[in-house]
Amino acid sequence: MICNTCLTDWPADAFYASNRTKCKECTKAAVRANRAAKIEHYQEYDRMRGSMPHRVAARAEYRQSDAYAVAHRAASERWMARTTLHEKRRSGMTAQPSETNNGKPRKRSAVKASGRQSGEKVKATIHLTVEASQRLTVHAAMMGMDRSELVEQLIRDHLKRFVVSDRGGGASESSLSVPSPPARPRTRLDPE
Ligand SMILES: [Zn+2]
Repeated sequence: MICNTCLTDWPADAFYASNRTKCKECTKAAVRANRAAKIEHYQEYDRMRGSMPHRVAARAEYRQSDAYAVAHRAASERWMARTTLHEKRRSGMTAQPSETNNGKPRKRSAVKASGRQSGEKVKATIHLTVEASQRLTVHAAMMGMDRSELVEQLIRDHLKRFVVSDRGGGASESSLSVPSPPARPRTRLDPE
């Protein structure tokens, strides 16, 4: 049986029943090429398809099932193992440089931080117990968030007591409120 595309003589099972003129491999290659060429169209279609009411309902029902619980737990464990490894690698690479600052005072970074936009993300290294880290990971996974988003939400929801605002000592600096206080809030009594 000859494929019109690759012109190869294949056994019959190399063809789909619905198409006897193009072999399975050529058909798959054509499908992949077509998807790649119209990727935006297909992604939009996939999003639309996923939000159809009967599919949304089916997902909600599946989430109540034992099969989901088993699959989700396995996926969470895989994800947790991956994240832990990643963090180990990252902390090994980033723990040292901020400490060795050529003897310059740490205050420099605090000044820089206050000039940042409130929506901008900065990298923060914090040390948690293993248990706290696992709880963070599990809760984030169950809530469909990443760990950073969950910490952001916890801070937003629970750390409301203090608000630090920099009224600007410099001539050209305008005042701005900083959503999370720097390590040491500046006061008038600080020698500067
Ligand atoms: Zn072919």
